[in-house]
Amino acid sequence: MSGDPPPLFEARDLVKHFRIRRSVVQAVNGVSLAIPRGRTLGLVGESGSGKSTVARLALRLLEPTSGELRFDGTDLRRASRTEMRALRRRMQIVFQDPFGSLNPRMRVLDAVGEPLAVHRLARGRARVDRVVELLERVGLSARDLHKYAHQFSGGQAQRIGIARALATDPDLIVCDEAVSALDVSVQAQVLNLLKRLQAELGLSYLFIAHDLNVVRYMSDEVCVMYLGEIVERGDGDALFADPRHPYTQMLVDAIPEFGRRERAVPEGETPSPSNPPPGCRFHTRCPQVAQDCRTEVPLVHRIAPDRTAACHLHDPRREVTLA
Ligand code: ADP
Ligand code: MG
Repeated sequence: MSGDPPPLFEARDLVKHFRIRRSVVQAVNGVSLAIPRGRTLGLVGESGSGKSTVARLALRLLEPTSGELRFDGTDLRRASRTEMRALRRRMQIVFQDPFGSLNPRMRVLDAVGEPLAVHRLARGRARVDRVVELLERVGLSARDLHKYAHQFSGGQAQRIGIARALATDPDLIVCDEAVSALDVSVQAQVLNLLKRLQAELGLSYLFIAHDLNVVRYMSDEVCVMYLGEIVERGDGDALFADPRHPYTQMLVDAIPEFGRRERAVPEGETPSPSNPPPGCRFHTRCPQVAQDCRTEVPLVHRIAPDRTAACHLHDPRREVTLA
């Protein structure tokens, strides 16, 4: 038997197609991923690749078209309302826009204390004490209890969002572009706060961002998404040091301090998810495109013990085919 404990969260073959009048937007098209306890899974890809849809599906804020979701052994799609209410406490989300996700008319006490009230975890004096404890955890203090969101800087407001996410004592926090709206120096402070909280509380993160450097800094394992699909997955440092899928190579080449100039940077726009290219979805932009890429959907190939890529280049039968 394998020695690895079961992951805290698991998605299998997750599909979400949005029907809009005559067209179907294939936002997520068969995504499988697992988040081990106490670890961070990074999800990276350009805008529109389906990252936020995966986040919303994971938290059951959206119903999937098909696929499986498991949290701590429970099948989320079969969970009863009561089970789901109990599980919601254990999964929280931090969004990109700290001000947009906080009600401007709420004081910090009420914003951070709201989940405690909703889940009937604490009231009165106990609630105030718990909110102060949460504020101190994220680098704020009791002096902030009666202020409003607009009285804070972006970084401080995001700390309030994190305190609110922590209120129910979750196991999993989905961070969807949680630092993308912040200045670089403030980003680093919030990322370090998230890392410290993970170490102190044993949290698992699904860490979503379009910025490779941010994802690399935060993640143990990374999944790279393109047009609703995971094209490459692997250990974060190894993946960015030696990207193997042409799309990951393109993303890495776009970072000045990483990029290898000798690699051709592919041109062209990302196709629409309501009309994705046949075969490999990346073939219209791929500098290494071959005939079969235009017609055959690539399988996911294991190319190293902890690396997979969905690309015909990595098909072990390919040399035979080409010969
Ligand atoms: P990302 O977070 O990677 O930028 P999203 O998950 O937000 O990507 O979006 C993926 C695709 O799905 C986009 O083309 C987006 O327009 C589309 N999409 C997302 N939500 C909806 C929705 N509710 N209805 C229709 N299309 C949607
Ligand atoms: Mg998004």
